[in-house]
Amino acid sequence: MTFPREGGCQCGAIRYVVDEPPKLIFACHCKDCQRRSGAAVVVSLIVRDQAFRITNGHPTPQRRTNDQGRVLEHWFCADCGTPLLGMARGTTPNLYQTVRVGTMDDVAGLSPSVHVWTRSAQDWVSMPSNARCFEGNPPGPLLALAE
Ligand SMILES: [Zn+2]
Ligand SMILES: [Zn+2]
Repeated sequence: MTFPREGGCQCGAIRYVVDEPPKLIFACHCKDCQRRSGAAVVVSLIVRDQAFRITNGHPTPQRRTNDQGRVLEHWFCADCGTPLLGMARGTTPNLYQTVRVGTMDDVAGLSPSVHVWTRSAQDWVSMPSNARCFEGNPPGPLLALAE
């Protein structure tokens, strides 16, 4: 994986740089992610916060509490609505940033090694045989699954 790589929202108001390879790339098949994205699955990478820089614009935060009482935090572009960053607060330490892989300019080689909430995966989706899969949340912190 070659880094740094750049990314941004659809309209270009927000641009960012990821300076180093991510610690972990994971796919979430939960209903929440499906509904928010309108897609089958949301793929995110986790990178050290100091290796993530916003180079243009200011993402807008949106917070809400899910059924399990967890505060979900998302950052999106207020101009075009693209979700860029975020996950459940407390699931990763503040030293890390969670970035939606689909917003990166170059996604080559960025495939998820971990799949969570496979119990609510859409019918047509099959998990890669080499991936680590969890029916719901993994038992420990996501970053414990980083190799
Ligand atoms: Zn935008
Ligand atoms: Zn999810």
